[in-house]
Amino acid sequence: GVRPLIAGNWKMHGTLASVRELAAGVAAGQASGADLLVCPAFVHLSAVAETLGSGSVALGAQDCHANPKGAHTGDISAAMLADLGVRFVILGHSERRADHAESDAVVLAKAEAALTSGLTPIVCVGESEAQRVSGEAEDVVAAQLAGSLPEGFAAAGGVVAYEPVWAIGTGRTPTEADIAAMHARVRAELEQRFGAAGSTLRILYGGSVKPGNAKAILALPHVDGALVGGASLVAGDFLGIAAAA
Ligand code: 13P
Repeated sequence: GVRPLIAGNWKMHGTLASVRELAAGVAAGQASGADLLVCPAFVHLSAVAETLGSGSVALGAQDCHANPKGAHTGDISAAMLADLGVRFVILGHSERRADHAESDAVVLAKAEAALTSGLTPIVCVGESEAQRVSGEAEDVVAAQLAGSLPEGFAAAGGVVAYEPVWAIGTGRTPTEADIAAMHARVRAELEQRFGAAGSTLRILYGGSVKPGNAKAILALPHVDGALVGGASLVAGDFLGIAAAA
């Protein structure tokens, strides 16, 4: 299979001092079986890039604008991120879809901008609790994929993150059977859209991944890594998840 990717989404957390310490802690851990990625807030990217240096831990951002430059006060372009040494960008996280009303079309435009600047997009999809309960989860995710992934996604090795909204920060996760079923559906959608290239794209699971549940989740078919929130803020926990991959 593909080499797993363990990604830390640091969200809106940390100080300059704390993120330097966290990045140094992650960089000091040798995770032989997985690729590691950390995604700090924009204002901490330079400091974390400096701390990570030329080591094997990759740097990602949590969003980008759809345009390469221009009159967009407060926004950050993919080109600016690439210029800093950023290689990945999380797009369409449910918190951005909720807090900033990001539609699939907006996520698609941002993913296109990421590809243009040579960044690897990590496009997030996932159902709400109501959608899970009503049995629509797989169709909701399939529709998000259809609307959010740009044409060049597979050729660029894009990453999909399945994050059920109700599992984020709650300590709750879907059953292993439900995670496996959703990842199989995502794989099928990727193969239908992109052909053979869809078979090797990484599909991450996100939502309350901890050292204690990582092994079982990461062992499931078509789970090619994890997108970790809370547990990525403690180097030992993040490395513990990576060791389970
Ligand atoms: P938690 O790991 O805190 O549930 O967050 C998951 C997430 O949203 C990662 O993007």
